[in-house]
Amino acid sequence: MSTLSKLYEEITLCQLCEIARYRTKTVPGEGAEDAEIMFIGEAPGWHEDQQGRPFVGPAGQYLDQLLALIGLKRQQVYIANVIKCRPMENRDPLPSEILNCRKWLERQIEVIQPKMIVTLGRYSMAMFFPGKNISKIHGTAQKRDNVVYYAMYHPAAALHQQSLRQAIEADMLKIPTLLAEAKNVTEAEPQPQQLSMFGD
Ligand code: URA
Repeated sequence: MSTLSKLYEEITLCQLCEIARYRTKTVPGEGAEDAEIMFIGEAPGWHEDQQGRPFVGPAGQYLDQLLALIGLKRQQVYIANVIKCRPMENRDPLPSEILNCRKWLERQIEVIQPKMIVTLGRYSMAMFFPGKNISKIHGTAQKRDNVVYYAMYHPAAALHQQSLRQAIEADMLKIPTLLAEAKNVTEAEPQPQQLSMFGD
């Protein structure tokens, strides 16, 4: 059994939060174990809870379209969420739920070792860009310990607001260049201090 499958089994048994009692399925994440890019959303919605798969409802269909803009299919990336169970009535995740679930995400990152982590929405952004404002930092990247962190709006928000839709699509189109730059820098010696498209 693969490391990820073992991890998924552990997640399935998790009962740390009250919402575990109401879930249909846990939604650990899915995608390539050797993916270069990992997308991290917020929390499963109704469709995801039913299927046990991330981003399979309307926001997920839009994410698939966004990936297609840069010639990628979801099987070529890894998709996860900050929390693995659906909050009742799709409320926002609680700080305690984010804290309890953090270890699963950390282990997913450890296994996949992505070159680029793309945060989708405020909750995911807050884990990697604490104290930042999404309207200010979307479309900018930071490199730390050879991983590029890149913040984007949540596809569900962009689906319903034309201005965010333009922004998320423009931000998506920057990913291939950022990834290529990140890989060049990893391979080159010595490393430059600052990459051209990176924010502070
Ligand atoms: N929104 C998310 O943040 N994650 C999903 O899996 C689906 C919708």
